[in-house]
Parts: sequence; structure tokens; C-alpha cells
Amino acid sequence: MKLYRASLAHTPRNPFTHLDALETFDDGGLLVDRDKILELGEFSNVQAKYPRAKVIDCTESFIVPGLVDSHVHFPQVSVIGTMGVQLLEWLETRTLPEEEKLADSGYAREVAKDFLTHLVRNGTTTALVFGSHFKNAMHEFFQAAQDSRLRITSGMVFSDRELRPKLHQSPQQAFASGAELIMRWHNHNRLRYAVMPRFSLSCSDKMLEVCSALLSAQPGILFHSHINENPLEIQTVKRLANAPDYLESYERHNLVTERSVFAHSVHPTASELARMAKAGASVAHCASSNAFIGSGLFPMRAHLEAGVHMALGSDVGGGTGFSLLKEGLEAYQMQMLQAEGIKLSPAHLLYLATKAGAKALHLEDQIGDFTSGKQADFVVLKAPRGSTLERTLSQSPSMAASLGALFTLAREESVKNVFVAGEKLV
Ligand SMILES: [Zn+2]
Repeated sequence: MKLYRASLAHTPRNPFTHLDALETFDDGGLLVDRDKILELGEFSNVQAKYPRAKVIDCTESFIVPGLVDSHVHFPQVSVIGTMGVQLLEWLETRTLPEEEKLADSGYAREVAKDFLTHLVRNGTTTALVFGSHFKNAMHEFFQAAQDSRLRITSGMVFSDRELRPKLHQSPQQAFASGAELIMRWHNHNRLRYAVMPRFSLSCSDKMLEVCSALLSAQPGILFHSHINENPLEIQTVKRLANAPDYLESYERHNLVTERSVFAHSVHPTASELARMAKAGASVAHCASSNAFIGSGLFPMRAHLEAGVHMALGSDVGGGTGFSLLKEGLEAYQMQMLQAEGIKLSPAHLLYLATKAGAKALHLEDQIGDFTSGKQADFVVLKAPRGSTLERTLSQSPSMAASLGALFTLAREESVKNVFVAGEKLV
């Protein structure tokens, strides 16, 4: 047994519904028995109860649950920072040409390894990863994901219209490829499969039927796609799918369920939100991407009032990097800019970056907070010597204020160690 001594913070309850959601220990102890969390509390109390546990001294550090990225694209690492274009032009001019390069499995392998390294370095231990349009690139990715020991849910991306023909596959090919990948990788160690039409803009009804069939191929498969990101995209979907709204293009193929995660949802109608809430579907809020490619300000209040579950996604490469801490800061800022915005607290940001993601990915029973019995996935954050963060933390009046400073200032260089199931990855 190992007893980690540090300042601890987690959100065992939902801060959108509970005032006491945030639990913190200034001088805390996190007791880990092999892959599981055994106990959490004041260091002196936990040590008195388990005097033989080996103490790992992380004083002057913060330990939070492993971060969960609910929307990120593995083939897009190299397009981060593409300026001056909105969604459809961004896809056409820079992003899809890069994604075409993954037809080369050697290149796909290199990108996959790189991508997973960046997740870990940013403290992300679990992710719902938008894949590649190429089956062999997905075998490479899943292999690399297995080697990384992270918790990864991913899938091959399907398209059979619009976009670039090199990225198309027929619905028959898509079904065969999806079935093969599911057989090989779904529920294999920490990997799971998610069915991923790129978006209904680039998928015919036949292709979405294939998605529906694959979704029920085995228990536990998730559904992941994009929705209501950009006004021109929405218009195009309604025209091509001959649908009154974006959600219906998925609904008519039974793709809106409690196992569905939709990225963006920046411009939903009230009816769409009500239907998503009724189905129990989740939204991946990608704040930095929404700002960077000019998609719009996320209507968080409308989602909350409708009862739609939300988590955070970095949306690399539309997003501005892999840090879920930065994503929390962006989410905070996007709400502050709106008259109807939600005043998010550090507890909300921590919840959105951890437990909310675990819930969206149906892993809430295993990860997301430090409840006894859960998997020991956690991140050790420490301000670099002489950094602005070190100075700010030294004067922090409370643990909540320290968390606020971490979301604002802590990035890759502050991620000291990352653990998944009690095993150190960094
Ligand atoms: Zn995306």
C-alpha cells in the first residue's frame, strides 16, 4: 500500500446540483492499494489508520483525479494553431489534407504514439478519441493506445459524401472495417470502441444505418460524433439530410441514446436540447476550439436547464492544445463573456474535467473521483520553481483559490506525475 501525501482535491458530487461538491484536504493522504483507491482524508488520520503504508511525499504538490478528455482527434496534432478560417474551410484547406496522410500506416503509427504522449504529459488519463478514416491507421492507434496503458475509447471515422473523396469508404466497407476493429479491440484491456460518423454532413442515410448496426454489435460500444458546431455546417446538414434540425439526422437512425457523446452543441434549438436530455445523451464542450475556429459561445445555461449532461473536450486540433486545465479556463471565460453565462467555480471546472467526463464515457463506476474502491487514476501537479504559478499558490487563501490558480496557470510543465490504476506513466 502506498500513501501519497499532498494537497488533494476531487468532486465526488456534481457541483451543478450540490453546494458541497468539492472535497479538499490541504495536507491530505491518498491511500492506494495496487490499482485501487482505498482511502482519502487528512494525512495524519489516514497514516494513523494504516501505519505500515509506504508514504510517498508529494508535499508542495496537488493531486487531482486523472483528467478526462471527451473529444479529441488523434490525426490532428500537427494542425493546432491553423489561424484565420472557420470550420468547413479549416477542414478543407488544412485538416483533411493532414488526415489523408494517415493512409500511410507508418506515418499513422508515428502520429499515434506522439498523440498519446501528449495526452499523458498534460495529465489526461482517459479520452474519447476521434480516429482516422483509415482502418489500418486505427489498428496502429489501438496498438499504441494499448501500449500507452491509458484508458482510450476510439473508432474509425466514417464518411461517404462531401469532404474529400480519398477519405470516403462505402457503407459496406465501413461495416466490415468497423466489425473487424470491434472484434480485435473493443473491451480489450483499457480500450473500447466507439462508432464515429465524422458528422451527418459527410454521411448518407445508408452510412448512418451502418453506424446503428455496429453500435449494437457488442455491449458497451459508444457513439460519438459532431453536432451544431457552426452555422454554415448546420445549414448544409439540414439541406443534405432533408431534416428539420441537426439532431434528427442522427435520431432517425437511433443514434441518440445514453451512450452517445456529441461534440460542440454550440447552436442547439430548445427542442434538440430537450430531446438530447430525454435520451440521456452527453455533450462534449470544446471551449477553446469554439473560440479558436470562431464557432460561437457555448450556451451552457440552456444545456443545464434542459438537463443535458456536459463534459470537456480539448478538440485538438481545432482546440488550442491538450490541457484539460486550460480547457477549464476557456470554459470559464466563455461563460463570463455571456450575460446568460454560468458563473463557474473551480469546483465546476474540476468536475467538468474529471467526473463529468467519466460519466459521459460510462466509466463513472471506475474513475472520475477518489471514492474508495475506484481505480487509482491521478495527476500530481507541482508549480515549477520560480514560476508565476508558484508565486500565486504561495499566497493562496484557500484550496478553492489554489484550484482556480491551477486551472489558470498550470500546464504541461506543472504535470509532475501521472498514474493510471496505481501505475506511474510519467
Ligand atoms: Zn471534433
